Amino acid sequence: MSETHLQDALDTLKTTGVRITPQRHAILEYLIQTMAHPTADEIYKALEGKFPNMSVATVYNNLRVFREVGLVKELTFGDASSRFDFVTNDHYHMICECCGKIVDFHYPGLDEIEHFASQVTGFDVHAHRLEIYGTCPSCKDVSAKVQ
Ligand SMILES: [Zn+2]
Ligand SMILES: [Zn+2]
Repeated sequence: MSETHLQDALDTLKTTGVRITPQRHAILEYLIQTMAHPTADEIYKALEGKFPNMSVATVYNNLRVFREVGLVKELTFGDASSRFDFVTNDHYHMICECCGKIVDFHYPGLDEIEHFASQVTGFDVHAHRLEIYGTCPSCKDVSAKVQ
C-alpha cells in the first residue's frame, strides 16, 4: 500500500515538473512510512546517515516543494516546530499533551460542519482542521506507575 502511495507521489512530482532527486525520493519514502508526523529536524536526523551533505534547510526546502504540489501538509502548533504529514485521504489528529505524539484517526461525516458553517457565515469553505487533545496510552502507563 505504501508502495503505491510512493509511486503516486512520484507521478505527481513528474506531472508538475518537479525534479525527483534521491533526497526528495528518500524524504517522501520516509514521510509515507512513518506515522509520527515528523518535524523537518526529525526527518533530517533520520536521513543524515544516507545523505551526509544534506542540511536541515534542504529538508525544509524539499518539504516546501512537496507542500506546494499538495503532497504534504504542514501542521503548525503555536510556536513549536511545524510537523509534516503525507496527505492521504482526510483524517484527524489526536495529540498527546504529555509527549506531543500525534496519532491519525479517521472519522466520517464532518463535511456537514463545512456546509453548515458555509450557510451561516456565507463563506466559501476550503478546509477544516480538528485536533483532539489528551494523554496517550504510554504516557498514561508512566503516570500510573509513578502514583
Ligand atoms: Zn504521550
Ligand atoms: Zn496525520
